[in-house]
Amino acid sequence: MLKTTIGLEIHIQLNTKSKMFCGCLNQPEGRIKEEPNIRVCPVCMGFPGTLPVANIEAIKKTIMTGLALNCEIPKESKFDRKHYFYPDLPKNFQISQYDQPFARRGWLKLKIKNSKSKIIRINRVHLEEDAGKLVHPKNAGYTLIDMNRCGTPLVEIVTEPDIDSPELAKQFLKELRLIVRYLDVSDADMEKGQLRCDANISMQRTVDSKRLKAKRRKPEVVIETSPIIEIKNMNSFRAVERALKYEEGRLRNEFEELKNQSGKQTRAWVEREGTTRPMRKKEEASDYRYFPEPDVPSILIDKKVQDGYGTEIKLIDIQARMPVLPQAKRKEYERLGLNDKAVEAIVAKKTYCHYFDEVISAGGEPQKVYDLMINEKAGIKISVKNLIAALKLEKEGTISHKILKSVLPEMMKGKKVEDIIQEKGLKQLSNEGELKKIIKRVIQQNPGTVKDYKSGKSVALGFLVGQVMKETKGQANPQLTNKILKDLLK
Ligand code: ZN
Ligand code: MN
Repeated sequence: MLKTTIGLEIHIQLNTKSKMFCGCLNQPEGRIKEEPNIRVCPVCMGFPGTLPVANIEAIKKTIMTGLALNCEIPKESKFDRKHYFYPDLPKNFQISQYDQPFARRGWLKLKIKNSKSKIIRINRVHLEEDAGKLVHPKNAGYTLIDMNRCGTPLVEIVTEPDIDSPELAKQFLKELRLIVRYLDVSDADMEKGQLRCDANISMQRTVDSKRLKAKRRKPEVVIETSPIIEIKNMNSFRAVERALKYEEGRLRNEFEELKNQSGKQTRAWVEREGTTRPMRKKEEASDYRYFPEPDVPSILIDKKVQDGYGTEIKLIDIQARMPVLPQAKRKEYERLGLNDKAVEAIVAKKTYCHYFDEVISAGGEPQKVYDLMINEKAGIKISVKNLIAALKLEKEGTISHKILKSVLPEMMKGKKVEDIIQEKGLKQLSNEGELKKIIKRVIQQNPGTVKDYKSGKSVALGFLVGQVMKETKGQANPQLTNKILKDLLK
């Protein structure tokens, strides 16, 4: 059997006020349009003799990300220089982390089909600086450089190869984006380059160990493997899924030839063709000549500085900033009786959760509030107070649910529900005497339907209720209408 193995390497730009090692303004990519090379200084442009100073807030946000991914937070971390020569990297090295990242050995649980779940292990979460950007004007014959992005704090998250399908890879990325948005560490907009993903995929031929008559704990034994293919240049969740699907198919079809090649190959996703093509040979870790960054002191977590050279951070301060995460929110909403679809729709946005929670705690019925927010597309456009007032009017019987839905568009524009009801005379008809008069008239006008109902066709009642609604422009109290109709037709 051929089995797919995928691991992801994700870079996320942090939304701190300043850059990673200098005081320049940090600006997540694509948020505003700006002139090139305006947010720069000697530090982020790599002038000789400048000293980097680590941004503590960026470190805290990295550790928050690690905690959200159930990682261990080591007592001591440091930065390292990662060397490579590229025009957008003015220092010719990137300050990154090598053997002592801020977080390691974590996991993320994803819900998959048939209410099963799958654990994706996290290898590490580390912090580094982003490079500048090369700009290639069309037919210009030269290249421009924009250093605004130089020194942007970048969190790198590396998973273990626990992902077994392109769909799961996409699901993992979406969950990760949701988590960092809840943490408020990044907007993580993939189309804008705030979240970037490289994927490693390989194919293994496995044999069921039972057939090998071996009593092992692992049910499968790998007997042949393809090289690991690293895919780059994917700029959307859809692109990640498509690129992995394409590569999965290619590895499967060409497995017999590929199984004899070893090592790692890098390929680029070409969106318009829907294919991947070979890129430069991937550098091995040793090519980067990592060594400790001598200009940035070690970071100590809950540990005292010994020789006067280090920065202390208290883990409890970071833990205190941790919000309720999507996973916990899902459980909370499931307990309220919402189904999976409803839960996901609300959990998808932190602002939806806040709003939903407020309306619920003021007495709103979960299913009804979900219905108005999502199915009726009210979102969070109506003030909490106004929505609660409307739900109360419905509960008291002053307006019907149908009327409530009909006034939503105006409520979304900011109009108070009481004012709309007053102006349009939409109060529900709950006066028994008045309603009885109208119902008697409807009965007289529809002798055929009445006969049907009396001969046992219970659906006929629905038609009569509909006629009453028509007569009252939807204002008749439905429960009361039903009751009176049944009584009169006895
Ligand atoms: Zn700077
Ligand atoms: Mn990196």
